[in-house]
Amino acid sequence: MGSLSALIKLFSRLLVKRSYTWQKNSLLRELGLWGVTKDALGHMKVQGLSTAKLAAEFGTPLLVVNQEKLNQDIQAMQKAMGTVPGAKILYSYKTNCIPGILQAIHAQEIGAEVISPYELWLAQRLKVPGEMIIYNGVNKTDESLVSAINYGILAINIDHLDEIERIVTIAKDLGVRAKVGVRLGLVDRSQFGLALDTGEAREACKRIYDAREYLDFTCVHFNVTSNAKTANTHKEYALKALDFVKDIQEMGLSTAYLDVGGGIGVPTSKNMTAIEYAQYRTFGVLPKPPNPSDFQPISSYLADISNTVVEYCRRNNMEVPRLIFEPGRHLTSRAEFLLCRVLTIKQKGNGTDFVITDAGRLSTTFPCDFEYHEVFVATKIDQKIRTKPYQVMGRICTSADWLVKNKYLPEIEEGDLIAIMDAGAYFSSYSSNFSFPRPAIVKISNGQTLLIRHEETYEHLIGMDSFE
Ligand SMILES: *Cc1c(COP(=O)(O)O)cnc(C)c1O
Repeated sequence: MGSLSALIKLFSRLLVKRSYTWQKNSLLRELGLWGVTKDALGHMKVQGLSTAKLAAEFGTPLLVVNQEKLNQDIQAMQKAMGTVPGAKILYSYKTNCIPGILQAIHAQEIGAEVISPYELWLAQRLKVPGEMIIYNGVNKTDESLVSAINYGILAINIDHLDEIERIVTIAKDLGVRAKVGVRLGLVDRSQFGLALDTGEAREACKRIYDAREYLDFTCVHFNVTSNAKTANTHKEYALKALDFVKDIQEMGLSTAYLDVGGGIGVPTSKNMTAIEYAQYRTFGVLPKPPNPSDFQPISSYLADISNTVVEYCRRNNMEVPRLIFEPGRHLTSRAEFLLCRVLTIKQKGNGTDFVITDAGRLSTTFPCDFEYHEVFVATKIDQKIRTKPYQVMGRICTSADWLVKNKYLPEIEEGDLIAIMDAGAYFSSYSSNFSFPRPAIVKISNGQTLLIRHEETYEHLIGMDSFE
């Protein structure tokens, strides 16, 4: 056993060493990918503001939203949509549910895709028009259904047969017709949607048709992928969904919209494969960074989906449904990064260098668990990386609180700033107040800072408790 574990240790050390080469030659070093720059001191800058100044003014950890980049990514998608007549973009609230960010998104004529009663409430609170809201989710409360129907949202996507009767009852009570769609469960082993192969989805449509006095059928929906590099998966499932649309036409039900969900990737981040995940977990082998050129540009991505749909409909003599896209990551991921401070550096006898920061996986950077995220020393952008890797950690008292393992970075000193990129998707959503308050969020627009969320205070943390 002793020699086997020695062998495994040696093997893992070799794998980590090998990752030096791919880290050094990474194509993910171009700051422009995230719309940031650097100054003469080699500090990362956003819209002319130095990250060192931002950290000094707002403290760390700090989430920084770059509205210029956000607008760029939104406009690129809208431009791509120019070729897709009548399509809608509804931002997935769960991706980054911060009012100050959502407002900036809605200002660009993008609607809301919500999956919980709270998100539905927030979309209304932010005055998103009803025809720009879709309500998905595996469990919808009666109260939220009343609210959705009263507000006249574009579609409540039915995820379970029981929902139909509940919606019919509510619509009868309110004396209005509720707009509904169906979520197709196209992927095995997922808890979502209505299965095609068992006839469940068809049965749902039959019941919707029978209750057409109270239900207005508007949408066929699916959501099947995440962080996709190309449109292939979307195309494949769009065809399956269209087969279904054709099938239900025969029972007299037609849909105005085909909602192809979210899942469009970003070229700066990727999901780890199962093998990469296992190697990272077991041996600390940081996966290869994504190669940005592997990602299909958004213009051809959307055109591919649209052409697939148009061609299918032409072949089958069907009316072409309008498309709905529900991007989350693709719109906001790149426009935000997390800035944290190096608190201490600990050199262990076994040659391992631990960098203790004020951010970590258990509180602020959970997606780093299963996704590749680029990490920069924001105060040493120009410096060469060392030949020895760092273990970058958080400050919670558990060895699980790492931020990135075996990352080759420039020589780090106490007080340096570290930037974790692509924090605009799922960082805030997954963040927790495990031992520390959640960080502030600052938005930068036209070179001006705006604090869109204050750091939690200790009083906030106990604000909902009752005790003597
Ligand atoms: C999460 C989610 C999205 C957005 O996913 P991304 O991968 O961030 O684009 C869209 N639609 C639904 C139903 C979702 O649950």
